[in-house]
Amino acid sequence: MTMLTDKQAGVAGAEAGSRARLNRNRVLVLALSVVLALLPVLPTPEFWITLGNYIGLYSIVAIGLVLLTGVGGMTSFGQAAFVGLGAYSTAYLTTQFGLSPWFGLLVGLVITMASAYVIGLITMRMSGHYLPLATIAWGLSLFFLFGNLEFLGKYDGLNGIPVLSFFGVELQSGRSMFYLIWAVVLLAVLAMQNLLNSRPGRAIRALKGGGVMAEAMGVNIAWMKVVIFVVAAILACVSGFLYAHLQRAVNPTPFGLNYGIEYLFMAVVGGVGHVWGAVLGAGILTILKDVLQGVLPKLLGANGNFEIIVFGVLLVLLLQYARDGIWPFLVPAGPPVLAPGQAAGLAVRQKPEAGELILDVRAARKQFGGLVAVNDVSFQVRAGEIIGLIGPNGAGKSTTFNLVTGVLPVSGGEVRYRGEVISGLPSREIVKRGIGRTFQHVHLLPTMSVLENVAIGAHLRGDFRAQGGVCAAILRMNKAEEEKLLFEAKRQLERVGLADCMYMEAGSLALGQQRILEIARALCCDPALLLLDEPAAGLRYKEKQALAELLRKLRGEGMSVLLVEHDMDFVMNLTDRLVVMEFGSRIAEGVPEEVQKNPAVLEAYLGGVE
Ligand code: ADP
Ligand code: MG
Repeated sequence: MTMLTDKQAGVAGAEAGSRARLNRNRVLVLALSVVLALLPVLPTPEFWITLGNYIGLYSIVAIGLVLLTGVGGMTSFGQAAFVGLGAYSTAYLTTQFGLSPWFGLLVGLVITMASAYVIGLITMRMSGHYLPLATIAWGLSLFFLFGNLEFLGKYDGLNGIPVLSFFGVELQSGRSMFYLIWAVVLLAVLAMQNLLNSRPGRAIRALKGGGVMAEAMGVNIAWMKVVIFVVAAILACVSGFLYAHLQRAVNPTPFGLNYGIEYLFMAVVGGVGHVWGAVLGAGILTILKDVLQGVLPKLLGANGNFEIIVFGVLLVLLLQYARDGIWPFLVPAGPPVLAPGQAAGLAVRQKPEAGELILDVRAARKQFGGLVAVNDVSFQVRAGEIIGLIGPNGAGKSTTFNLVTGVLPVSGGEVRYRGEVISGLPSREIVKRGIGRTFQHVHLLPTMSVLENVAIGAHLRGDFRAQGGVCAAILRMNKAEEEKLLFEAKRQLERVGLADCMYMEAGSLALGQQRILEIARALCCDPALLLLDEPAAGLRYKEKQALAELLRKLRGEGMSVLLVEHDMDFVMNLTDRLVVMEFGSRIAEGVPEEVQKNPAVLEAYLGGVE
């Protein structure tokens, strides 16, 4: 009884902690808004207003980089070039044709989105360093383009850009631009927070670490990467637009590669995974740069951009001692602040009739170079069965799972699911058809709450097109969807017995519980077939019993389960049939009692019994 109340207190505490973080964010936004609103009306020196304007402009770009680099794990050095597109589009159209700046903004956005889309499409499918390299090339080439085009005024640029007028108010002074710039900053922060706390946002957060898990939950990771590349570019473009109308003149210098690097600095310094960190980083670097530009030449007795050296040292120190930047030191991190709604459940897939042939693995083969990890293995799973896949370490069990779920392509043979050949499909298509899975080496987002981790499993069950919903999330038009998905995640957590940990960081769970979390996440996919890779590893006796009970209950509801497990008691008492693998080959198959006595199996497990 006391234990129960303790647990309940724990849940309530965690929920209160989440709320506190949510409130802190609101207080921060409010306090900042008040300070920002007062600055221009108080007798603030012009210099500080100018500095504030620049910090705001840089923040907008850095916020995009938080999404792209900090959250999505993709490095771009080319953001300054997108800033340039925004600035030059409006500069050219307003000065040469006398068009409205807002039309210039529109054209800038179209050009930016189109170019980001193309660059994204080309590079996102490639792995590793192609994106940073491509963004460097993009940054360099656009800089030289700006500098060499006659109609853009070459390196002198364009002058005489008109003043922005906003609902009839002319934003003539730096003070009036200040309001517009910082309104955009705050909107960008809110938009980014909205996006990150949504279904597509969770998919974006799941991109880091390769995205195998995200893809297995139905996320089209290549597409998601293109989307966030475009979103980050849009923010850069808007910053450029504002810059052009603040400065009233543009030339290529601020859009060169070194500015691209500075933007990345800002995001890293502030805290590359934190939206507010972008504003902090932009503030720190802008002020520091200004101070250093004044002090260093005097100290060193020579002119030059010495601040770059200081920035370089600063970056190295940060990467050494504070990888997440400065923001987490100011505001301790915690899992995001989402709580499940009270929505009705999601639609559930019709389960196949008991006994229907659901999974048919036919001579599936996987070779890694010379190693045959899975050697023409065949077996079947019928609806409503629990099948155990057992064998010594390295037998090829996990690889077989990867072949079935499309994480790896087969080298030969085929896999059929309910009569359809699924080998060759990407894993996001396979999960769509109803195969959910867990991983032997857990794939979860350690700093995200347990609840949100589980909700990733429901990616394909949202209101919006599976890979869409980004705009709806930014505009907070996804409330109904969020309520349904989080409610479903909570329901699955209750089912597996982890509801008490809902608001905890997933990384703080014991390894055994992390595996259970993965089961809840797989259940969120609404599968008809569940593939569990060593689900009981790391569980205590009681927990194993509870897991076996859960799997029996699922079977009772028409679920089919294929599981890899080393605990023989667990397997023998639970499964309907066993498939035994050794060195990539299937060596036995049958009901547990038979398999237990099979000489080949005994040989494989015990190294021979005479
Ligand atoms: P099990 O899950 O039965 O312990 P695995 O399927 O993980 O075995 O591995 C089977 C064999 O394939 C092992 O020898 C392993 O080293 C090899 N293997 C697994 N994945 C890869 C990979 N991506 N590249 C190369 N070899 C691999
Ligand atoms: Mg394995």
